[in-house]
Amino acid sequence: LPVLLHSFLYRTAAASASLPTFLLVGPSGSGKTAFATLTERTSIAQTHTSTQPLTIEALLPSPHVPASSHYRSPGDPAYERSRRFLLLDTPGHGKLRHYATASLSDPKSIRGIIFVVDAAALAEEPGLNEAASYLHDVLLSLQKRYTSATSSKGPTGIPVLVAANKMDLFTALPANLVKHQLEKAITEVRTSRAKALRDAGAALSGGEDEVDEEREWLGEGGEGHFEFSQMQEIGTSVSVVGANVLGGKETGSVDGWWEWIGENL
Ligand code: GDP
Repeated sequence: LPVLLHSFLYRTAAASASLPTFLLVGPSGSGKTAFATLTERTSIAQTHTSTQPLTIEALLPSPHVPASSHYRSPGDPAYERSRRFLLLDTPGHGKLRHYATASLSDPKSIRGIIFVVDAAALAEEPGLNEAASYLHDVLLSLQKRYTSATSSKGPTGIPVLVAANKMDLFTALPANLVKHQLEKAITEVRTSRAKALRDAGAALSGGEDEVDEEREWLGEGGEGHFEFSQMQEIGTSVSVVGANVLGGKETGSVDGWWEWIGENL
């Protein structure tokens, strides 16, 4: 029995490992678990605790079509297979973010990153700053992955969906403002990080060292405003799409998010 069990587990793990994977990240309370629960699940790979990432095998719901299957018809086994993907729900708690960053350092099967934010929390400074510094770090990991790549053409870019959730709340910022506020707050994060690095460098070397500032600076080298479009340089497109996981169809749905997943599947 143990041998059978082992081979079963091994095969399951191997089959799952090859599925396209989307990382679910973002501050806690933004709605990641609610979204993961909403997906049509075919299996759950791990017991969820607040300190462990949760892997969910999901299906892209129709009428959404995986980009890889535009020329196939429903019923074709290859079409059905192409609808399968994994959602890796990572804990949002600050100390546990290394799970998300660890997956980013080995992103072979990572097709995209879904960064869930509470669009109502972004209307307040603490919520905005928390989301911006987390998103800054995610984008910086993607940039480092790109700039430290050894192959000449660079790794395939990983797209990011800023999933602006809780649009059913009347305090929620609309998607265009979510984008604007996050870009503005990331500009501030970037400036204060650069200053901290310069200060640390000055303390170490008596003022001369630039402490690899280039590698720690998100986006184009210039001093100006950060914009998500600057991530195109590292092959990463950032889309901001509003939705609400809960709160009913009248106020919207997560169709825009499915569409984005389909485009990257
Ligand atoms: P996580 O920490 O990111 O996994 O967040 P959860 O999925 O646990 O959601 C946090 C809270 O937000 C829960 O109380 C959810 O019921 C609530 N929530 C999630 N999505 C929505 C939404 O679209 N609208 C509203 N009003 N509440 C939501």
